[in-house]
Amino acid sequence: MAFCNKCGQQIDDNVQTCPNCGAPNGVAGNAQNFVNNFTNTADSTAQFDPQDIQNNKVMALLAYLGFLFLIPLLAAPNSRFARYHANQGLVLFIFEAIAGVVTGIICVIPFVGWIIGGILSGAVGIFGLVLTILGIVNAVNGQAKQLPLIGGITILK
Ligand SMILES: [Zn+2]
Repeated sequence: MAFCNKCGQQIDDNVQTCPNCGAPNGVAGNAQNFVNNFTNTADSTAQFDPQDIQNNKVMALLAYLGFLFLIPLLAAPNSRFARYHANQGLVLFIFEAIAGVVTGIICVIPFVGWIIGGILSGAVGIFGLVLTILGIVNAVNGQAKQLPLIGGITILK
């Protein structure tokens, strides 16, 4: 026997949809739980001025597009919301740069390094893309929400 991962109702192991609350269980439920946990990061939206958020969503979005994290810092220096996302964009940018150097070094090693380096750079590329999309979605939704795993790092106060 298993338990529904939403309402706790006892359900059969092979049940994909909880008969009590309709929540997905089994493979679909596990996948959804993973996504929920992954994106369930610290949210400090309430600490920001709603007018600031409204005015600077586009600035916040630009922060995630590579070195464009500089634009919100230069164009909206007084926006705490833009600065919050500029920090997230900068952390992501540094993470990708370091990961690029590390995988580049690994790829110098013939054969084994090529394989491991190739797999790593693919994984980093996908991870970076996922974080970029999450950051842009947060910015457009007017949320000051940390990126998974690396979003807790503060470089720009
Ligand atoms: Zn349920």
